Amino acid sequence: MGHDGVGDAGTGVRPYDVAIVGLGPTGAVLANLCGLHGLRTVVFERSTDPFAQPRACHLDAEVARVLAQCGFASELHDVLTISAGMEFVDACGRRLFTFEGFERAPLLGWHEDYVFVQPELDALTRRGLERFAHVQVLLGTEAPGLGELGELAEWIVGCDGASSTIRTLLGVGLVDLGFDQEWLVVDVSLHEDAEVALPGIIRQVCDQARPTTFVPSHGWHRRWEFRLESDEPAKPWDLLGGWGVTPDNADMVRASKYRFHALVADRWRGGPRGRVLLAGDAAHQMPPFMGQGMCSGIRDAASLAWRLAAPDAADLIDDYERERRPHVESVTAMSIQAGRLLDDLAADLAASRPLRLPEPDAADPTRWSRLPGLDLGGAFPIGHQVPGPPGLDQRLGIGWAWVATDPDFTVEGDSIQVVVEPAATYGHRALLVRPDRYIAAVAG
Ligand SMILES: Cc1cc2nc3c(=O)[nH]c(=O)nc-3n(C[C@H](O)[C@H](O)[C@H](O)COP(=O)(O)OP(=O)(O)OC[C@H]3O[C@@H](n4cnc5c(N)ncnc54)[C@H](O)[C@@H]3O)c2cc1C
Repeated sequence: MGHDGVGDAGTGVRPYDVAIVGLGPTGAVLANLCGLHGLRTVVFERSTDPFAQPRACHLDAEVARVLAQCGFASELHDVLTISAGMEFVDACGRRLFTFEGFERAPLLGWHEDYVFVQPELDALTRRGLERFAHVQVLLGTEAPGLGELGELAEWIVGCDGASSTIRTLLGVGLVDLGFDQEWLVVDVSLHEDAEVALPGIIRQVCDQARPTTFVPSHGWHRRWEFRLESDEPAKPWDLLGGWGVTPDNADMVRASKYRFHALVADRWRGGPRGRVLLAGDAAHQMPPFMGQGMCSGIRDAASLAWRLAAPDAADLIDDYERERRPHVESVTAMSIQAGRLLDDLAADLAASRPLRLPEPDAADPTRWSRLPGLDLGGAFPIGHQVPGPPGLDQRLGIGWAWVATDPDFTVEGDSIQVVVEPAATYGHRALLVRPDRYIAAVAG
């Protein structure tokens, strides 16, 4: 047994390849991908049912693409609504600036932003696991200690959320990236006959008296986030009244206080054999202003699964944190910036001075898939996602692929499949595409 309690025999055949702790969105997507890769997987989840209340309500194109890769493409159309974008307004609702146009033709095969109701998505990802005889899901089961987990599986992945036990057992600390505010999160379901005029776009209200976020979610679901003063009592219906929402036209789904944090684990891998990994909220937490917390966890899962499945996993896993951490840190910085923008713009308006608007690049919808953490060290398009013209992703499947302009493309001694799709090669003869859809190399 190693100094932190992880079994380190390193010999003998363990019954599982991967043990996942936690079946939130990160663990569920990782388990589906492990299932597709044929990895013998065990999942420990202390609750019997998915978390009943929505937390995440927004996801982006890359995450929709991962979910489609898991096999949920057709069901996704039922649980996602294309988002019209996001506007920042003053206290009277006058528009200051906007990130819009996300309905445009999708680059990655999916639109740049969607809204959804999290329990519906959680139900989908959990159902997906029923396909795999080699994935065992233990609901209502607290994960055992690292020693027992290390005897059970080659790899242990802590997807156990913000209060991660695995992170604590590894002795991994959290680095504070500098955000700490109390907000009230209110979800309602509008009555179908409700005559209430609400924005059709995500709205950030730069009001010094009450910074507020509004999200027109999927179906009849609507979300508000109201900044609270410290120790301020939560009075959701009073706050909703200002938007014309009352018990006569809506049902309260929940109203919960949250502390919005920005934290990142100081390392994402541990244990004497380096076989214990952290992913999702266990590895990082960010304020929700860009709707990227769950998205980041699902990106972690996509980045981990193919590495865990590779014959040289022990070496490849080093790149997991090397790629994912800078991406998470830059997305967290953007989320903090978006949160602070509510205060900055409100202060500018109050002082009648020019508005400190973000750089135009912040509104570029392709921003998530070309952040510095994904720079694989080459010239464009290496480190970017391969485009997703119709049908390409189904043909790419779960493995490595060359995406080529012509069927004659071959690489001597290379058994990687060649998929012909001239519309996706960025003008090169071929692109080498990793299982997570990132371009690793170009030919010609
Ligand atoms: C108000 C709010 C709004 C948000 N909006 C968005 C958004 O729009 N878009 C977005 O992308 N993100 C958003 N997020 C963030 C998102 O909700 C989280 O990042 C995401 O839920 C994290 O998923 P996870 O699977 O990593 O962790 P969790 O969802 O916390 O799941 C962890 C799981 O592990 C289980 N577990 C814990 N310990 C153990 C143990 N010892 N044994 C067994 N099981 C265990 C828990 O029961 C739980 O099911 C929002 C968050 C909040 C609070």
